[in-house]
Amino acid sequence: MAENRKNQPHTGRFINPYIFYPTSSREPAYSDAGEERVSGKITTVIRTETPLFIPNSGTDHAFRVPDAPEEHKSYDFFTYSSAREDMPLGEPNTKEPVIPGSEIRGMIRSIYEALTDSCYSSVTDGEPLYKRTSDHYTPALIRRTADGKFELVTRVNVHKVSLNMLNRIRGLSDGQKVYLQTEAVKKQVPAKNRGFQEITQYRITGISTEQTADTDREGYVIKGEVGPSEMPRPKSKGRIIELKKQPPDGMPQTEEPVFLSREDLASLDQVLKTYADEKINQNREKGHHGYQEYRAAWEAFKTGNAGEYMPVYYSRIRGDSASIYYLSPACITKEAYRNTVGKILQRHGNLKPCSDPSDLCPACTLFGMIGQNGGRASSVRFADARYVAPGTAGSDDSMPDDGASVRRDTDRESPDCYMEPVTLQELSQPKISSAEFYLKKPENARFWTYDYKVTEDGHLELCPHEIEIAGRKFYWHSKLDIDAEKAPGKFFPKVLPGERNRTVRPVKPGTVFTEDIYFDNITKTQLRQLITILNISSTGERGYKLGTGKPLGLGSISMNVSECRIRTIRLNEAERSISYLEQSYKEFMDEEIPSFDAGAGALRNMRFEEENVKLLLKISDFHAADGFTVTYPATGEQLQDVQSGKPLDEGFRWWTLNRGGRIETRDKMRFRSSLPTLGEDDVSLPADQEQNNPSSGAE
Ligand SMILES: [Zn+2]
Repeated sequence: MAENRKNQPHTGRFINPYIFYPTSSREPAYSDAGEERVSGKITTVIRTETPLFIPNSGTDHAFRVPDAPEEHKSYDFFTYSSAREDMPLGEPNTKEPVIPGSEIRGMIRSIYEALTDSCYSSVTDGEPLYKRTSDHYTPALIRRTADGKFELVTRVNVHKVSLNMLNRIRGLSDGQKVYLQTEAVKKQVPAKNRGFQEITQYRITGISTEQTADTDREGYVIKGEVGPSEMPRPKSKGRIIELKKQPPDGMPQTEEPVFLSREDLASLDQVLKTYADEKINQNREKGHHGYQEYRAAWEAFKTGNAGEYMPVYYSRIRGDSASIYYLSPACITKEAYRNTVGKILQRHGNLKPCSDPSDLCPACTLFGMIGQNGGRASSVRFADARYVAPGTAGSDDSMPDDGASVRRDTDRESPDCYMEPVTLQELSQPKISSAEFYLKKPENARFWTYDYKVTEDGHLELCPHEIEIAGRKFYWHSKLDIDAEKAPGKFFPKVLPGERNRTVRPVKPGTVFTEDIYFDNITKTQLRQLITILNISSTGERGYKLGTGKPLGLGSISMNVSECRIRTIRLNEAERSISYLEQSYKEFMDEEIPSFDAGAGALRNMRFEEENVKLLLKISDFHAADGFTVTYPATGEQLQDVQSGKPLDEGFRWWTLNRGGRIETRDKMRFRSSLPTLGEDDVSLPADQEQNNPSSGAE
């Protein structure tokens, strides 16, 4: 077939839609002190190479999408007109598309940050990090001491109780103290060496909230909830955690008491918070109440408004000097990490977001910042990118030069740049807790999280100081070989409108915009840097990614500088007037407009690290991913489907396989693959994880 690519994409490996541009701890390359400064305007031409979509977010029901559920969201492309609602799919958009300047600014700034080893300005700390774990936590009690300390009491017996039984005893709630009537049962269990030994177990025959002559033990109720949807779950999670009696006098006393730290206790707050968060728990099983009752009991206990003990599950992670304890209301649960992205960045001076206006990284110096102790205004302003109708001049000389963005709202005829509305595949949410993608691999680790690692020889080690984030997220170009205008069905795999995907109206590939960027009092070096970045497509081989749906192939653009005017002010003392002189870049700077194709000498002139430039040239290459299918992680079977034009569903399958399936103890965890970094030669990932499965981790 004529449309077939010369080379079929690899059937065993794929390229993830995004990769991380590694960060460097070296000091930023450039400071702006003591150089001549310039002001003026750069005009660029943006051309879409694949469909581009920027939402008009005035409504999330732009279209009346047939057979779509009520919750299905739909958006038209951004224009200066207010968003219309409930349009039939066939109704045209008669307004010219606009790319808001903020979109382009964000894109250019993140590239500039990467090239100059600047700070992570967009990182917001405070997001709690957590991950489901299939390891089993151990039941225990927390004792609140008279002086307000919290002791973890591990000498407990655990009794399973059917929820029915708990429910029958009216009013029994999480954390409640109960009295138990038990009966001894002799049981044969396998002995340590061989054969069997007899042990005595106690079976609950009655529960009471009052102490009676028949009740010989006391315990605390932990009711539990139905499990996470992926886990096999027994009918009941109800437990009574019984406090074992102290060994009689004369017998060896139990070990030293363990007091929980504030952070240990906070881990329980955090887990409870994530269970309560509706957004996180969209797929929660029916009947799951997000541990509301347990949470209330815990709050009362913490503040001393309940009894002496509170039932809990815990897991201990050993460190060199101290251990930490993850606490949870359930046996199979989520780990809430101590480390945060903010704490990790704090350990790398140049990467943490700038806060002091007198000590700024190159990106904050140029693009501005707002800190608690003041800010710095931006020296560059991005106007909105205006649509250029086919056949008209690329850049509009009649535009006023005062920088005001002119809000044209022409309504001549429908611009011929829109595609038919299309339902996009669901975009996967960033899985920041997926350490195998978001974090660098710590030394000698086969599995790692934000707090600890599992070493190659199977030891669990607390290592918060070894954890580093992988870098800045960039997206690969893909699907440039598919003619999305003539064969939209090939570009957009067919999906039914649902609650979690969206219907949108992109602009076609080949749509042209023009964009003005105003710079004010920046150095010549900054100007060269900026122009070089804006002139990425000078050879036609490279471009950037913009807008919505980048992982799905949307938003590849080329960008070229068409003009740069530098404006100087002349003061005429005698006439007490000022006049402006405008010159082209070449006239003023006495050099050609720079681009990345310039040699190493020019790079030095721009003060970009050569290594950083190489990385940018790689990720911006329209054909860097050729030979592979760019897709969210897919198993071998799924990759075949994707390659035959089907959407990827059950996106969790590859991730589960990559962790070796359902492994129940953490020290047996292993990542089969982790995301390569941008600098590596092979940036693909294996679809089938079976081949390189080193011995199964299951017991
Ligand atoms: Zn900064």
